[in-house]
Amino acid sequence: MPGFELTARQHRALEEICDAFCPGGNGLPSARALGVADAVVAAVALNPREGERRQLAALLGLWDSRPLGVLGGAGVNRFSELPREQRERVLLAWGESRAPQRRAVFQALRRAALLFYYMLPGRDGTRNPVWDAIGYDGPLGPLESAPAKPLPITPVDHDQRLECDVVIVGSGAGGGAAAGVLAGAGLDVIVVESGDYYDDQDFDGSEYGALTRYYMGAPSASHDQSVALLAGSCLGGGTVVNYSTSFRTPEEVRSEWASHGVPAFTSAEYTASLDAVCERLGVSQEYNEPPTREQKLQAGCVKLGWHVDAMPRGVRNCAQGKECGYCGLGCRVGAKQSGLKTWLSDAGQAGARMIVRTRIERVLVQGGAARGIAGTTVEGHHLVVRARAVIVACGAIHTPALLRRSGLQNPNIGKYLKLHPATAVWGVYDEELKPWEGVMQALYSDQHRDLHDGYGLKYETAASHPHLFIAFSPWRGAREHFALMEGLSNTVPMGVLLRDRDGGEVRVGRDGEPVVRYKLSPFDAAHVRTGIDGAAQIHEAAGAQRIYAPQNRWVHYEPGRGSRERFMSEVDAAGYGPGQLMLGSFHIMGSARMGGWPATSACDPTGQTWDVRDLYVFDGSSFPTASGVNPQISIQAIAHLGARGLAARLT
Ligand SMILES: Cc1cc2nc3c(=O)[nH]c(=O)nc-3n(C[C@H](O)[C@H](O)[C@H](O)COP(=O)(O)OP(=O)(O)OC[C@H]3O[C@@H](n4cnc5c(N)ncnc54)[C@H](O)[C@@H]3O)c2cc1C
Repeated sequence: MPGFELTARQHRALEEICDAFCPGGNGLPSARALGVADAVVAAVALNPREGERRQLAALLGLWDSRPLGVLGGAGVNRFSELPREQRERVLLAWGESRAPQRRAVFQALRRAALLFYYMLPGRDGTRNPVWDAIGYDGPLGPLESAPAKPLPITPVDHDQRLECDVVIVGSGAGGGAAAGVLAGAGLDVIVVESGDYYDDQDFDGSEYGALTRYYMGAPSASHDQSVALLAGSCLGGGTVVNYSTSFRTPEEVRSEWASHGVPAFTSAEYTASLDAVCERLGVSQEYNEPPTREQKLQAGCVKLGWHVDAMPRGVRNCAQGKECGYCGLGCRVGAKQSGLKTWLSDAGQAGARMIVRTRIERVLVQGGAARGIAGTTVEGHHLVVRARAVIVACGAIHTPALLRRSGLQNPNIGKYLKLHPATAVWGVYDEELKPWEGVMQALYSDQHRDLHDGYGLKYETAASHPHLFIAFSPWRGAREHFALMEGLSNTVPMGVLLRDRDGGEVRVGRDGEPVVRYKLSPFDAAHVRTGIDGAAQIHEAAGAQRIYAPQNRWVHYEPGRGSRERFMSEVDAAGYGPGQLMLGSFHIMGSARMGGWPATSACDPTGQTWDVRDLYVFDGSSFPTASGVNPQISIQAIAHLGARGLAARLT
């Protein structure tokens, strides 16, 4: 387990930075009083990349020195000697620096300080007083009637060697579906997951609890902080925290994927797998009561004459009300048909063993074939599982890292990463909307789905809890930012979800850890621009009083007073580069893609790696290109079809 300890000087510098972002006042605690710096230290301690931890410590060691003051815009003064306004100016100078590395530092510090300030509970475990000040409801608390956790977990409390037919690494959308199919076919299956097992009784709607326990800790952003990376990391993976939106792979995307040398994508078998997955998840448009924030999406689109439709959702007996807005923090009432409720439950009933809190370090390869895996539990016990076949389903960031650590050489491993970069334009309305409540994604608009050659974007919203707001909104000073937070209850995000054509890559460091490199190409940036303009139009048509952009600079207009054309030219001036535009990724894909040829893909049309026999990849990495729709159904269908083929071979 990595560690991170700061000297007193470094810790003080971190506290001063956090206080500059969130000074409190008027009866509210400062970041220091809430323990924000300690929370940041605890989060950084989980980053396995020692180089990054050391860089942060070095920066903090220098932060309050005169040389860094000169470089950072504090003149000959130390940061700690400056009055509040000047400290803010120093931070903003980092954020607007010409050097992308300095903008990256600003974004990392901004995100860390603000997120923990608004997510942490109060010092004594009570409500954070800031929630009341901004009118945010805060966590729901645990549900007394939540059932006990049903899945049997196999303990690994000493060094252990196990055997089975198929071992699956990662239990998310891909790994879970594969486990359900293979165990159902009578094979002896072991699923190994690095995260822990959380279920209904653990889900209390706390942002802090969810983000520090069920979400991926590292990497939390691309190398230059230009895209925040969100993924699940627990038994069930992303299916536990996702928003239950359940699109089938679009027909034109199936054809595009088939043209990459995988004819199965246009086959009746793939259709049957899509059907089976949708059936298992109960996908329907029955639980789609639009919450207040989506009524704005609906009203805006209707007024503009734009496409708007009900979202297909993978839920059963969904409560729909306030509860539903906490979906991304885990569904307390068990309505979300996550892997826990579906495939892993099926696999468990068919006798599959599930191991949690165990990170797999490598695949064991003998004579060119995969024969098992080796890893270590959180407590430090070694685990070896021997098997006839291995499935890697660690998600599209950690899958290429595991393949590389296992010695695979195909140059396409890690390439062709797609992120569906997402951003949000904010609309402030007269009435209180509580945008963190109600069905997560009841509606969407495909108005700009195909802007060029099948590439474009979707408009979707998401429940706006503080963590989501902070991810996509600017900080221009503590007072201004707090005023934005005070408006949270009246503010709606109009989400723009890009189908990216050009993408990035996952590189794997000498330490075996993944680093995500991603740059928005001019082609993709032009589509983001259309999306920002389109989202502003929806807000304007829906009656927003004020609209602001997801740029690092403050760019806004008031319909009726300012014009959208001028707003967009200011958005252009604020830029779409790293640290200039807030982007996040919820959909991570393509980094070990399937294809017909080893020269352009990492895995063959059955999902088996070109390098090593009996080693399969069934997860978001498998996509030949971006799906253009929220990907969980496509991932599960690929795993379903691939696991059917593997079961036929092994039984
Ligand atoms: C907040 C959020 C909302 C989303 N909403 C939607 C939505 O509404 N609809 C939709 O279609 N998609 C949604 N997605 C995306 C979707 O959930 C993911 O695309 C999907 O879960 C990815 O599946 P996967 O199998 O590739 O990997 P994951 O589901 O990410 O699973 C990978 C698992 O592998 C584990 N792992 C990684 N490395 C190792 C290792 N070395 N050893 C052992 N275990 C390891 C991880 O801990 C993780 O649990 C959302 C994602 C997020 C984060």
